[in-house]
Amino acid sequence: MAGHAKFAAVYARPFWREAGWSGTATSRRGPLMEIHDASDAEGRIGALFGFVGAPPPYRSGIGPRVLAQQAIAQLVRLFGEQAAQPLWQGVQDWATEPATAAAADRQPLFEHPSYGAAGVPPAWRQRLLLAGTEFSSDHGGYLEGALDAAEVAVAALLAQRLLHTPVARSPIQQDTAP
Ligand SMILES: Cc1cc2nc3c(=O)[nH]c(=O)nc-3n(C[C@H](O)[C@H](O)[C@H](O)COP(=O)(O)OP(=O)(O)OC[C@H]3O[C@@H](n4cnc5c(N)ncnc54)[C@H](O)[C@@H]3O)c2cc1C
Repeated sequence: MAGHAKFAAVYARPFWREAGWSGTATSRRGPLMEIHDASDAEGRIGALFGFVGAPPPYRSGIGPRVLAQQAIAQLVRLFGEQAAQPLWQGVQDWATEPATAAAADRQPLFEHPSYGAAGVPPAWRQRLLLAGTEFSSDHGGYLEGALDAAEVAVAALLAQRLLHTPVARSPIQQDTAP
């Protein structure tokens, strides 16, 4: 996902909820392909965010200002005129960050790679556990996959009774007597 970009717009309140809408949208008209409600849980402030579907060469061609204009126009089409005046809006384009994306990441990825069980040689299986998102068969490449892979690895450690050392508490967390 290193070549991805996201757009977010913040509003005084999640006005779409007043119409009974979830804030979730899938769209093929405009730069955002998948939009979600990113408001806080209580709805004290409203926010919509979207994954930018337009590929990195298109984004760098038009620049973030025009991209944001196109994204707002898309939100207006989907959610109405109230979407036109956000309190704040921002484009985060990781394809332009050299510490995140390499040149190969700027090639559009049209489908998620299929990840799965790691090919750990049998002799290593008791000693080597791979817990990154790429080792999740269900959600590889996503945060959910990282959690899934970590749970599998911890379960394996517990089964092998390798997790018997108590985790040291950080000095910051230690109780301080008044
Ligand atoms: C731009 C971008 C946007 C994303 N957006 C989303 C999203 O909206 N939703 C979603 O679900 N997922 C998203 N992802 C994917 C998500 O971030 C990853 O799937 C997830 O972080 C993977 O977790 P991980 O623990 O497997 O690996 P990582 O989070 O990559 O953690 C690996 C860690 O190991 C460290 N490390 C590497 N080599 C060494 C070494 N030799 N020694 C010590 N430490 C090392 C790294 O510094 C890193 O901290 C996004 C990813 C990117 C890049």
